[in-house]
Amino acid sequence: MKRVGVFVCHCGTNIAKTVDVEQVAKVAGDLPNVVFSTDYTYMCSEPGQDLLKKATAEHNLDRCVVACCTPRLHEPTFRKAFESAGGNPYLLEIANIREQCAWVHNDREKATAKAHDLVRGAVAKVRRNFPLSTSTIPITSKALVIGAGIAGMQAAIDIADAGYKVVLLDREPTIGGKMVQLDKTFPTLDCSA
Ligand code: SF4
Repeated sequence: MKRVGVFVCHCGTNIAKTVDVEQVAKVAGDLPNVVFSTDYTYMCSEPGQDLLKKATAEHNLDRCVVACCTPRLHEPTFRKAFESAGGNPYLLEIANIREQCAWVHNDREKATAKAHDLVRGAVAKVRRNFPLSTSTIPITSKALVIGAGIAGMQAAIDIADAGYKVVLLDREPTIGGKMVQLDKTFPTLDCSA
């Protein structure tokens, strides 16, 4: 059976003043596959991360949802913490109840209801996630630019200026694209060719 843990962050008062975080955690505890649910003042702090790691080990969690701020801020933090406790980092989802909820609403009751929905959605997603792994693939530091119009030529020049070999390819026998079909260019009346 999948074992999901839910962690609802207060962000001090950033979230807690608008969203009833204790209630969100309590309701999340009844969602399918959720075996552990709690709230905490600052989830990204060291004690907050330790809480996630400890709960993962003690409750044998294989999936996590952290209801907190935007994933752009702390998704890597929590994935790392979950991984260090033995979890697959891609089986951790963020429910953004700060920027997408607490910060854009004033009505506590409605904001709390929305936070419930966001957490429910994240739990539903994490239950369906598959574990992923990262791999490293050797690459050749060389670029192929297809289309030798103005944009393609400029891209090829920029890449070459950055120190990489470039192959510029076009279906026509000459480069220049639409530009070579023009006579003069505005406003300098330079010859387009
Ligand atoms: S995890 Fe995000 S929402 Fe929670 S305390 Fe840290 S910054 Fe605030």
